[in-house]
Amino acid sequence: MSLSLAIHEREEKKSKPDYDNLRFGAEFTDHMFMMDYSTEDGWHEPRIIPYQPLTMDPSSLVFHYGQAVFEGLKAYHFQDKLLLFRPEKNFKRLNESNRRMNIPEIDENFMVDALKELVKLEKDWIPTKEGQSLYIRPFIIATEASLSVKPSSRYKLIIILSPVGAYYSNSEQMSPVSIFVEDDYVRSVKGGVGFTKTAGNYAASLKAQKKAEELGYDQVLWLDAIEKKYIEEVGSMNIFFKINGEVITPALNGSILEGITRNSVIELLKSWDIPVTERLISIEEVEAAHENGTLEEVFGTGTAAVISPVGTLKWKGTDLSINNGETGKLSLDLYETIAGIQTGMMEDKMGWTVTVQA
Ligand SMILES: *Cc1c(COP(=O)(O)O)cnc(C)c1O
Repeated sequence: MSLSLAIHEREEKKSKPDYDNLRFGAEFTDHMFMMDYSTEDGWHEPRIIPYQPLTMDPSSLVFHYGQAVFEGLKAYHFQDKLLLFRPEKNFKRLNESNRRMNIPEIDENFMVDALKELVKLEKDWIPTKEGQSLYIRPFIIATEASLSVKPSSRYKLIIILSPVGAYYSNSEQMSPVSIFVEDDYVRSVKGGVGFTKTAGNYAASLKAQKKAEELGYDQVLWLDAIEKKYIEEVGSMNIFFKINGEVITPALNGSILEGITRNSVIELLKSWDIPVTERLISIEEVEAAHENGTLEEVFGTGTAAVISPVGTLKWKGTDLSINNGETGKLSLDLYETIAGIQTGMMEDKMGWTVTVQA
């Protein structure tokens, strides 16, 4: 079925927030994208409408049994153009989440085109200072009114947009984070839903995150759920270790989220001829490398920060200090290159950015 996008513009535009004091995800633009699904009609009625509250039946399945998936990416203003970073990968991953959560698949190409239209309409909402961007949140929720435990027969796909400030105002400000290695709570298990961006994964992680904060750490590092031995990922970032010149990241195993930043880092390292391996890596191996002085750098990767250097790992009562708590050279090079490509400041030899003519 071919879909055609309707655009209903708001008559009176909202006033713009103070772009120098943006809080993450606190302000939303004038419009949003919406599309409905029903078993009779499939995905239908894609439309851009004024940003507005939803009216939903309290028995809607999403409120009870959590059938909900989401994505996150950013748009940047570059001169007279708007840039999206690998948006096709986000809609591909949304479909991977959909398949696991029994939500009907979407047309990925159509969604990239619809997103371009939405971003173009909201171009004045993309702040223009270095590092500032428009955060894009696509999500799908189950809307059938029913208390039966079953896949919903109705859904809504919505995209909302939020102007966000620079994560680091410049690369000198990349301050390393401290990480608590969690060996009590677990995030996900093979056969479960850890590889999807589904709402419940985040609800289930809050308790451990709060515990880490109370102990004075920024984020949680998750271990595998069975042996509590192998490293999985950090909060909502993937993780990399540089040991004796080799860069190692946990292999995708069904319980780790396949980050688009993770994939970009791996491809860049390969193009730079820096050895990079996806494999099992245990916390003991990291501790041993720290002990014998070969643990050179540790960093997280994700859309929000791009690269987040790790300065401290807390494991079983000991604080392991990494690179004297300073940002390593590789972390910095990766940040400058990926952020440079995303913002248009650096030539995109990888062909990652998608340009929207404003
Ligand atoms: C979104 C997310 C990531 C990072 O993915 P990116 O596509 O790089 O933003 C990593 N881990 C989890 C659990 C996530 O939700």
